[in-house]
Amino acid sequence: MKSPIPFYLQKILDSVRGNKDGAVADYIPELAQANPDYLGIALCSTTGHIYAAGDAQQRYTMQSISKPFVYALALQELGLDAVRDIVGMEPSGEAFNELSLNRNDHRPVNPMINAGAIAVNQLINGVDSTVEDRVECIRSYISRLAGRELEIDRNVCDSELEHSERNLSLAHMLRNYGIIQDDAHDAVLSYTKQCSIAVDTRDLAVMAATLANGGRQPITGEKILDADVCRLTLAVMASCGMYDGAGRWIAEVGIPAKSGVAGGLIGTLPGQLGVATFSPRLNAEGNSIRGVEAFKQLSADMGLHLMSTENRVGINPVREVEQNDDVAVIHLQGHINFSAVEAVLHQLREYDLERSQVALDISQVSTLHKVGRRLLKEGLRRLREEGAEIAVIDPDGILTDREMSDGTLVPLADAEDYQIAGQSIL
Ligand code: GLN
Repeated sequence: MKSPIPFYLQKILDSVRGNKDGAVADYIPELAQANPDYLGIALCSTTGHIYAAGDAQQRYTMQSISKPFVYALALQELGLDAVRDIVGMEPSGEAFNELSLNRNDHRPVNPMINAGAIAVNQLINGVDSTVEDRVECIRSYISRLAGRELEIDRNVCDSELEHSERNLSLAHMLRNYGIIQDDAHDAVLSYTKQCSIAVDTRDLAVMAATLANGGRQPITGEKILDADVCRLTLAVMASCGMYDGAGRWIAEVGIPAKSGVAGGLIGTLPGQLGVATFSPRLNAEGNSIRGVEAFKQLSADMGLHLMSTENRVGINPVREVEQNDDVAVIHLQGHINFSAVEAVLHQLREYDLERSQVALDISQVSTLHKVGRRLLKEGLRRLREEGAEIAVIDPDGILTDREMSDGTLVPLADAEDYQIAGQSIL
């Protein structure tokens, strides 16, 4: 059975595709060359399943999306106290490139604005590191997060460096107050290279999922960051990641996130998944307009808001799978939200349930989120399309709406009809 999740992601893209508002960033001339119509999305579960739609393999530069990851690296290398000595954790409510430092101690207020990110970049690989070694340390670390070797886009980097007066003035300010030690030009060079690491949307989803997974890269299995470091990083992303739009973002979308001016946007749902979108047209805050729209929809539709009481991770949603040569009965349990249904659909594919009859027993399911219902029905419909006879065992009627996407109804069955003397998988 082909997973219905990419199809679902495609629908989200289609619903935002018509929005042509905003403009590509042009203060970095090379970014102004980007095709404004690119639109991609990718989702990676903490179990390492990736789903993508649209231009998810198009390459672009991370820009500010590098900031939370380099902040996490600084926390990992130096610990919170040392990092907090040079950068705060308060939302600034200002633009990303604002010339602002904390009035009392002159620290940048948080690591997501440029002033903070330039200061954090300087912490990597020790204060005596050369620019080259520091950048290599960051590039190789980000590559481990993505699970493949990434490169720096020289054209974008050079183009930004030619117009970096703003960041240079921030670096001069930071050096003046003793927050950074390097010469301002070196600090901006190192930071700009960090921003110019080229990725695609799948890479970003995997990196976001690594944060969701407590620092273990879900595909390579490598433990890269401590869980405490991920928690701190996600907390700072939640309060500061969307700059002056951060308050509205956390209310409306409720997913710790970070945007970049090349059009990327990542979101991390702790313990569950990472999502990334790509669409280069930006709003006044420098956030991707269609990316923000897609996230709003994902959050509402899939119940992903962090403050939502429906958004819990619980026990394994597949209690048991019984099968013999003809029949497979999949017994579900607990709360079926997006992450749960993703796991169920993945197992349906993994077990290669090529039985002539497939029944889903939802009698032990406590709640069925609307996205869970929709995707389960779509999974069943696809099994039927491939020739299986499908049914749902639902004695309490929790599948309130049985209509599938082709207009037919999910057939119901009694548990007694499926007492099979078969092999139990779980
Ligand atoms: N490199 C960009 C800058 O410093 C990053 C900004 C962003 O993505 N918000 O201006």
